[in-house]
Amino acid sequence: NLTTRVEVNSQDELGSLGSAINDLSVELNNYRKTRSEFLANISHELRTPTSYLIGYANLIKQGKYETPEELGRYASVIEGEASRLAKLIQELFALSKMEEGEYTLQIQEVDMEDFIQSLHAKMKLKAAEKGLAANVQLNGNDHAFFTDGMKLEQILLNLLENAINYTEQGWVNLQVEMKEEHIEFIVEDTGAGIPKSDQSLIFDRFYRVDKSRSRATGGTGLGLAIASELAKQISGAIQMESEENKGTRFIVTLPYSIENQDM
Ligand code: ADP
Repeated sequence: NLTTRVEVNSQDELGSLGSAINDLSVELNNYRKTRSEFLANISHELRTPTSYLIGYANLIKQGKYETPEELGRYASVIEGEASRLAKLIQELFALSKMEEGEYTLQIQEVDMEDFIQSLHAKMKLKAAEKGLAANVQLNGNDHAFFTDGMKLEQILLNLLENAINYTEQGWVNLQVEMKEEHIEFIVEDTGAGIPKSDQSLIFDRFYRVDKSRSRATGGTGLGLAIASELAKQISGAIQMESEENKGTRFIVTLPYSIENQDM
């Protein structure tokens, strides 16, 4: 045990100093534990793609293929795994900067109509590849809306990408509700859903309900962790409701303006 404990015998200044040291020491220990778990996760995540890369590069080096098509398939595996690694590294870097509080906000007025049309164009293509319908809908009164549009777009793209990845038939929908006090972006799908026992964990880094499925879709397990960090940055929150084999709904709640808040 790395925790240093100071014996506290009094209620005076010395006593409270002792208690403060004890609290700090518990905190430090928790930090060490989280950090070492995180590093263990990262090395685990790096191991699979690197072993594929080495394995397939070796097959090619030893000429262990019969046809050019087979060689092409090996090269595709290498390409896919290398892309996964690149994505993992980029996302880890982004997350670590966010957690150090290193970010800037670029707040601008968002033209809601343009904003959701551009998202619709992006989600439609991916959804069509899987034969899914993709709809957008805007409800409520027109309010001026100020936020960091790039960050909001990243959040919604992560949620929409998941909605498409984890849905085999039916539809994915983006609905915007302009309420009196705040604005809601609702990303809904008719997909696999998330079992109750996993629901509190899916925003954790690297957590996946089904590891092999997430691998097959190119997932890194970081998409929701990033979305939730970004939501905090723009003074928002993300909630989730889901039923297994029915579908999932993510709700991003944002203020109409974050102009005057501390950044
Ligand atoms: P990944 O890269 O694995 O998609 P995320 O952090 O984006 O990582 O999501 C974590 C996990 O949450 C996913 O692996 C998946 O199991 C589950 N998940 C996220 N969104 C959905 C959804 N719309 N439907 C079903 N499961 C989902």
